[in-house]
Amino acid sequence: MSTGRGVTIRAAVSRGVGLPPSIETLTLDAPGPDEVRIRVEACAVCHSDLSYLDGTWATEFPLVLGHEAAGYVVELGNPVADSEGASEPGLAVGDPVVVTLVRTCGECRACQRGHDVACTGDFPIASKSPLVAADGDRIPQGLNVGAFAEQVVVHRSQVVRLPDDIEPLAACLLGCGVLTGAGAVTNTARVTAGDSVVVVGCGGVGIGAVQAARIAGANPIVAVDPTPDKRESARGFGATHVVDPVHDDLSATITAATGGPLADHLLITTGSPAALDGAIELLAPMGQLIIVGMAADDVTIEVAPSWLAAANKSILGSKMGTIRVAQDVPALIEHHRAGRLDLEGMVSSTHALEDIAEAFEEVWRGDVLRTVVLPNVTATQEQEAPVPC
Ligand SMILES: [Zn+2]
Ligand SMILES: [Zn+2]
Repeated sequence: MSTGRGVTIRAAVSRGVGLPPSIETLTLDAPGPDEVRIRVEACAVCHSDLSYLDGTWATEFPLVLGHEAAGYVVELGNPVADSEGASEPGLAVGDPVVVTLVRTCGECRACQRGHDVACTGDFPIASKSPLVAADGDRIPQGLNVGAFAEQVVVHRSQVVRLPDDIEPLAACLLGCGVLTGAGAVTNTARVTAGDSVVVVGCGGVGIGAVQAARIAGANPIVAVDPTPDKRESARGFGATHVVDPVHDDLSATITAATGGPLADHLLITTGSPAALDGAIELLAPMGQLIIVGMAADDVTIEVAPSWLAAANKSILGSKMGTIRVAQDVPALIEHHRAGRLDLEGMVSSTHALEDIAEAFEEVWRGDVLRTVVLPNVTATQEQEAPVPC
């Protein structure tokens, strides 16, 4: 139950485009009704965080970023535990949980139709951030979470109970990257056994897509990335073919891999405009282009409608993999427990909160699958025990 009192936390506050975040002491309000306070054990850096920091997407500063998190419930706002009609199971203090950016009211038209990512509900936490700076100003939670911080308060619909046998360091990837990639394959594309799948971009979202395609029985699975290490990683996670988009002939590779018909599903998991060039021509008849990665606000593509109509091709947007949090996160946990979904192998490095700028640099360089910030671990502790899983 809520104590009604806020707590003092350290958080990484981003105060402008191109500026490294500053570690500041903030007050975190107590959780209100239907809200949960969580001690953040791990929060992965997602490209969406950096898209705000480098100005690709417009936003107002300051804000606390970080939206791919796992940790433990510290406090429940009344009446979370006893809510009737909730689709989420009840939560208790001490429960391990994963946190996502997707909030659902359960009542709007989108929620009633199972379209969690299109929820139009109103949430008190959306208009009044629980984060308060030393000067009294409220600091928004970046992408509904703000988990580059020792603790967060979020709406309960953003929280899924974890089993006790999964480490937060691995589980946090289910908060955005893997959830999005896997959701794009299973929910948006509805990949089935024997389908040919091409995944462009082999970061956390792309590898999540490759793994989900393998679990679905897709074949071939062609992974495309300009970075050699990422191509090799993709092969390890289930890609049957890998392609360097700069030096290899992607069309020829897909043609050879599929025996000619090209891609049933081509998923663009990067925001790079170059990834969209010629993508439509790589689709088989009945094929789908699925746009998962968020390009900059001013990027557009040209499409000849006859290309789509004549061969029954389609273009689908996939926000957060069209996921339904309460169903899809538990399903992925079951895949992980059964050994089908490797999360631990996707964690490239870990960093203490005070070293968050270093974590951002790694992601900007593009040479990691997933970099994870450990907000409650000091830099000294982190150096002594890197990557505990
Ligand atoms: Zn994300
Ligand atoms: Zn809703």
